[in-house]
Amino acid sequence: MSDIKDKDLAAFMKGVIRRNPGEPEFHQAVQEVAMDIIPYIRDNDRIKKMQILERMTEPDRIISFRVVWQDDDGNIRVNRGYRVQQNNAIGPYKGGIRFHPTVTQSVLKFLAFEQVFKNSLTTLPMGGGKGGADFNPKGKSDSEIMRFCQAFMTELSKYIGPNTDVPAGDIGVGGREIGYMFGQYKRLMDRFEGVLTGKGVEFGGSKIRPEATGYGVVYMMEAMLATQGEKIKGKTCAVSGSGNVAQFCTEKLIELGAKVISMSDSGGTIYVEKGMSRKDLEWVMDLKNNKGGRMSECVDGIGAKYYEGNRPWALPCDLAFPCATQNEIEDADARALVKNGCQAMSEGANMPSTPEAIDIIRDAGIMHAPSKAANAGGVAVSGLEMSQNSLRMSWSREEVDTHLKNIISNIHEQCVAKGSRKDGSVDYFKGANIAGFDKVANAMLAYGAI
Ligand code: NAP
Repeated sequence: MSDIKDKDLAAFMKGVIRRNPGEPEFHQAVQEVAMDIIPYIRDNDRIKKMQILERMTEPDRIISFRVVWQDDDGNIRVNRGYRVQQNNAIGPYKGGIRFHPTVTQSVLKFLAFEQVFKNSLTTLPMGGGKGGADFNPKGKSDSEIMRFCQAFMTELSKYIGPNTDVPAGDIGVGGREIGYMFGQYKRLMDRFEGVLTGKGVEFGGSKIRPEATGYGVVYMMEAMLATQGEKIKGKTCAVSGSGNVAQFCTEKLIELGAKVISMSDSGGTIYVEKGMSRKDLEWVMDLKNNKGGRMSECVDGIGAKYYEGNRPWALPCDLAFPCATQNEIEDADARALVKNGCQAMSEGANMPSTPEAIDIIRDAGIMHAPSKAANAGGVAVSGLEMSQNSLRMSWSREEVDTHLKNIISNIHEQCVAKGSRKDGSVDYFKGANIAGFDKVANAMLAYGAI
């Protein structure tokens, strides 16, 4: 952990670390929030007496379960599944499911904690949760994925429901996996209900849900640039990742006339000096979504340059969009972005910047929207999917996109309201943390000590 000067924050973090040993990602996420909230509540005796922040850092419950499935060779395989139900003060638990070998309790606790603030910022009635398994979908056949999803849902189904906990997708969990899990839930419970979001539009999914996180990340950037009288058109943009969020972030940037020079995967980064065309992106989407290909294949496929190493941050750019995974921007990456004149960053991935990187970016005066504000578009449209499921209605693409734009614009306004500095600049991290905290804290105060 970075050096802490504030005595109250140091004491608070000491307690968090003692109660949650060996969970560095969770400590990092809590500290990033607590450093803004502790000064904010210093004079608020009621919030302090009711231990609101302490209660928010303790998940309501963590469920961990064995997932047993059979591979194509008939071998029995065992993985560990989790659901972290962090906080349901303002609505049912809501947050994605991640299938990736790096999944641990610490990673899911950090994601669930962040989700509480993010969901609060959307202004929709959703609490925070997160789940997943240390299952590696890479190289698995379609039948193996199906059997794993069914085995995972057989356990998870006992703990979720449209009014209790509504999971969605995340890394390694897209429309196909949601379909398999929803099918299994329906078979087990014999109920067709909005228990998962990110479903296919044929069975209750919302239009624009696949696009929502990536589009929202760009809408947040548009809102930040507008405060300086600027637009996205003509800007050189570095994007990392090549999954769901990166793809639709890139699509929206191209549509708005930006020059997207990079995408990446865990193997390496592509560099397209003249900027990716719509056709280049379609080729990448087909490669990643249908062929299980690697970004290295873009050298022949679209004539891109390719670098080993999964980070594009040393490439000169005006705008940066980290859309791969946590801690993908470390201090050296942040310094490179500053040196090359990066003007703003909108975070698509959850917690992609380390605390040291955040300090460097902040000190350089770069506008920096944290993930809990910038990537809230995905969960916002998930919330709209829940509303459509409850109403048994389906809204048009245009209607959902308009809601999404309004929600992101409102999140931007909340960040400005709570994060403006005396010099007129905005601390988007502080703004998002305080605005997200307020609503949940007020609900918890209303409930008393529970
Ligand atoms: P995805 O479709 O599974 O794509 C993940 C991308 O990140 C892939 O390009 C993957 O490369 C790369 N990646 C994963 N782990 C990596 C690692 N350790 N090092 C380098 N690259 C890595 O997932 P996604 O839905 O786009 O999610 C990306 C990020 O956005 C995550 O932080 C997620 O929590 C966040 N997010 C997603 C949503 C959503 O609606 N999907 C909403 C909010 C936030 P490989 O192909 O090589 O694995």
